[in-house]
Amino acid sequence: MPYRSDFPLLAANPGLHYLDSAASAQKPKVVLDAIRDYYETGYANPHRGAYSLCVTATERYHLARARIARFLGAADSEALIFTRGTTEALNLLASSYARSYVRSGDEIVVTAMEHHSNFVTWQQAAIAAGARFRICELTADGRIDLEMLESMLNPRTRVVAFGHVSNALGTVNPVSEIVAMVRERCDAIIVCDGAQGAPHIRVGFDALGVDAYAFSGHKMGGPMGIGGLLARRELLESIPPHQFGGDMIEFVHDETTTWAPLPHKFEAGTPNSAGAVGLAAAVEYLDVVGMDRVQAHEQQLVALAQQRLEELGSVTVYGPPPAQRSGVLSFNVTDVHAHDLATILDSTGVCIRSGHHCAQPLMRRLGVAATARASFYIYNDESDVDALVAGVAQASSIFAGSAA
Ligand code: PMP
Repeated sequence: MPYRSDFPLLAANPGLHYLDSAASAQKPKVVLDAIRDYYETGYANPHRGAYSLCVTATERYHLARARIARFLGAADSEALIFTRGTTEALNLLASSYARSYVRSGDEIVVTAMEHHSNFVTWQQAAIAAGARFRICELTADGRIDLEMLESMLNPRTRVVAFGHVSNALGTVNPVSEIVAMVRERCDAIIVCDGAQGAPHIRVGFDALGVDAYAFSGHKMGGPMGIGGLLARRELLESIPPHQFGGDMIEFVHDETTTWAPLPHKFEAGTPNSAGAVGLAAAVEYLDVVGMDRVQAHEQQLVALAQQRLEELGSVTVYGPPPAQRSGVLSFNVTDVHAHDLATILDSTGVCIRSGHHCAQPLMRRLGVAATARASFYIYNDESDVDALVAGVAQASSIFAGSAA
């Protein structure tokens, strides 16, 4: 893939097969350059000074916001709240929304494939409000059971939260279909965990129809510590801030305080402006590559990897067929624990993840404690698939040998 040379860490390690982009993606040089340039030529604490360097830093921060909103297909960039990432974005929404709108007897619906940050957050919000926490189950091939979801929706449903793409199975969920179904049956807010969506699929927030979309910059080539909550303006304006401090106030009286307009109301304290600048460079990079190309490339590699792993005969792959998944392949090898597999693969330069992938409810339903997960991005190519398959074959034969 021509893009590998854009990523300094990969270019410096030709023998490395990085197949853990679902955990975090490597960074293209343009991102590293943008962060360095910001610190070297335009850095100060935004919003806090009248001097021109501060004005420049503030402008760069807000230009970054506008660029990222445009990438995500949102016209209203002030409704993009910067957070540390998806986890913080979902916690913000769950705590502020549930405090205002979820009451005893109401219902919150999630699915069995959610990452803990889109599961535990809503579970805890439901417990705090005395609401019913409901879990929509999956089909045998790892898709949301839409019939079940439909049957669960009722006038007491306040929140429907689900992932755009599963980090543990790779399933790409039919967001528009779910949105139409929810809108017809209740006036719940629809929350999409886009941690695995935004890096791999064109989001088109305004057309998608969800009320809120959370994402993490570090999974899309941006730096760690920056991400966001993109939401409908009316939703953000109708809920209270989750953190208090500098920059988010309008007037502080002795007894009460009023809040600054969006996005400041939800961005208390010194922002991660360098992170925002770096993430803006990352989305610029992805736009140049083209998100359709990113998705098609990953699907092709996943299909190839799945076919070649299944040909080994000792591999069980979890999740839907390749056409319905993004660049994630979750699997187990007979008689080889996922952690042992990851260790053996590491000795051949292949980086995969093993474990429950922060999706213990899903693992329970799959009947496994852990899976191995290979995840692909634009810098991967067929040589990474070759290395993965060779490493899995080697692990299989080592353990077959020890069992004999
Ligand atoms: N949701 C999904 C689907 C994820 O894959 C992840 C990261 N593994 C998260 C949420 C949490 O993202 P972060 O750790 O960047 O907040």
